[in-house]
Amino acid sequence: MPMRFLLILLAAAFFSPAAAPAQLTKPAFLPQFQLPAWGGMVTFSIDDANKNVYENGLSIFKKYRVGGTLAPIVGAVENQEYWIMTWPQIKEFQRAGWEIASHTMYHPHLTSLTDGELEYELGQSKKILAKNGIDAKTLVFPYAQYDARVLDYTTRYYENSRIGGQALNGIDLNRYTILCKELTSTTTPEEAIAWIEEAVQKKMWLVLMIHEIVAGTPGDYQYNAGDLEKIAAYVAANRIPTPTINQALAWRQASLGPNLIKNPRLEMTEGGWARYWNRNNAAQVTVEPATVRRAFSDGKRLKITGSSQQNMAYPEMIKLPDKESVYLFSFFAQVATEGANGGLELCIDEFDAAGNWIGWQWLGGFWWHTCGSPAFLYQPSSGQVGQIMIYIFTDAYADITFSGDNFYFGAVNDGLDWKIRFFNRR
Ligand SMILES: [Zn+2]
Repeated sequence: MPMRFLLILLAAAFFSPAAAPAQLTKPAFLPQFQLPAWGGMVTFSIDDANKNVYENGLSIFKKYRVGGTLAPIVGAVENQEYWIMTWPQIKEFQRAGWEIASHTMYHPHLTSLTDGELEYELGQSKKILAKNGIDAKTLVFPYAQYDARVLDYTTRYYENSRIGGQALNGIDLNRYTILCKELTSTTTPEEAIAWIEEAVQKKMWLVLMIHEIVAGTPGDYQYNAGDLEKIAAYVAANRIPTPTINQALAWRQASLGPNLIKNPRLEMTEGGWARYWNRNNAAQVTVEPATVRRAFSDGKRLKITGSSQQNMAYPEMIKLPDKESVYLFSFFAQVATEGANGGLELCIDEFDAAGNWIGWQWLGGFWWHTCGSPAFLYQPSSGQVGQIMIYIFTDAYADITFSGDNFYFGAVNDGLDWKIRFFNRR
């Protein structure tokens, strides 16, 4: 065992040369070593908590020390339905280092529920998990089905939520719409390994969705245990990190430099407006008390209401600490009003060290009713750029209301070659 421990330490050092020694001595090497930086990684994401995953899967996950997120249908566990894991079995996953998420109470189509039912499916499942000693941070949507209203309720109870999407996640992911690829009965281990290789190559995050694990020929929503073992063995042999969903988001956080936006939560106000922030229209751009508490938005929020002109809020000029860096801009966002004109946009004006305007970049925006924590990457256009100004604004004649909070802008500091990936994407 000491030898194994040492090898894991060495592997962690290899994958993360920038990691501080203190982070490597943390005793949390289950289910795999901790890696405090974002990079190529894979998360096994198990939906429903079918008993056959406990019977045929857990020993494989333990043998190869791979981790992930188990999302039980909480009401079915509570009712001790014959096909689902018991609480002690779920706790065994937790003891193996797995994250336990919520997959709601009874696995309904969330988009067709009333507000009260939605509140119950999300809130009550979290409560019952808490009663069983599980602090659920992640929600997995049944049928990968969601809309703006479902996201709105999700942000009240959870820090992360997973959808479908059949794609990899970049560091600029929205933590409320985490993508996954599904291991279906017809996915070969070679195909799954190719997805993992792609994730490693692109420094992206693969979330692998699994429903059931069987010893024999898999039917719909089932995967063969021997094939799963091939995938797990590949992951272990190549020392690919397997964080839980919530750990992966923590690793993203650890990969980001200090927040360069002052008063990012708009809690400090002066004369009714946010300190260190500017606006062009005091009637349409305000700081409002939050009526509903959410995971990434507490006391106060930025509110921009559309009108015939562009209405904008912009934090104070930001001096860039490193012209070579790629930066991440993220925030809590809610855009209300369905199917209306115009949207919310995000731009960066670039200036030299003396404050002369050089140019601008458009980062993106929203044109629909949405809620979550979107993120955008920015890289300075040239070595001349010394300072930037971020503009958050509604289009002229936009018929929308935007609420924002928990703004973050900082350097991506993970020692990876982000510049190459960033420019290849364009
Ligand atoms: Zn499900």
